[in-house]
Amino acid sequence: SAQMLFAGAEASHVTFSYEEEEILRNYSVKIPAGKIVGIHGASGSGKSTLLKLLMRFWDADSGEVSVNGANVRGIPTRSLRDTESYVTQETHLFHDSIANNIAVGKPGASRQEIMEAAKKASVHDFIMSLPKGYDTEVGELGDTLSGGEKQRIGIARAFLHDAPFILMDEPTSNLDSLNEGIILKSLREEADKKTVVLVSHRKSTMNVADVMYEMENGRVS
Ligand code: ATP
Ligand code: MG
Repeated sequence: SAQMLFAGAEASHVTFSYEEEEILRNYSVKIPAGKIVGIHGASGSGKSTLLKLLMRFWDADSGEVSVNGANVRGIPTRSLRDTESYVTQETHLFHDSIANNIAVGKPGASRQEIMEAAKKASVHDFIMSLPKGYDTEVGELGDTLSGGEKQRIGIARAFLHDAPFILMDEPTSNLDSLNEGIILKSLREEADKKTVVLVSHRKSTMNVADVMYEMENGRVS
């Protein structure tokens, strides 16, 4: 399939500052196609920043970021967004049904597809336990959704989007080990046809990775 042709991603000698403070210094990392690359490191070390450069939310000050074999500066944002599924550190839910919140990853998806993605993200049973199931309005729930429930909805979005390149920022930080285990197993099953960058400060999460890099003040150590 076309997805098998994804050429991986790479940061090469990247330097990046938000303002004066340099966050990444001459940072290089290779993300080979078909692998799960773990990025582990302390809070503030630059993990989310790396993902944002791969998404081209910002451009590097120097060095090169490439996705699918091409410098991101030359890739139209639209096609970059189609290529990448991004699970943000904080899941933002819209005032809409749970089904539509998951379908953000693939507008027009069938209920069946939405449910399959939710199962992979270990959130289907929770959704089915709600009186209106997938038709529950997030607004109706008020603040009752837990951090982990929101997070799993965010992961279901990414599974539904089904892009060749998945970037996950602390996707399981709010989850118990049972739910985390189900999700990492799903990720592992996707991984032979996907390329994954998995950011976590938790060492045990990194067990699913084919290769792990330690990030320390914006450098590989
Ligand atoms: P955590 O594990 O806490 O999520 P992280 O490794 O993801 O941390 P980053 O979010 O990449 O770290 O942040 C790296 C550094 O850049 C931090 O010192 C942070 O305060 C700073 N930073 C992040 N985003 C911005 C921003 N938009 N403007 C200015 N500084 C920022
Ligand atoms: Mg972060």
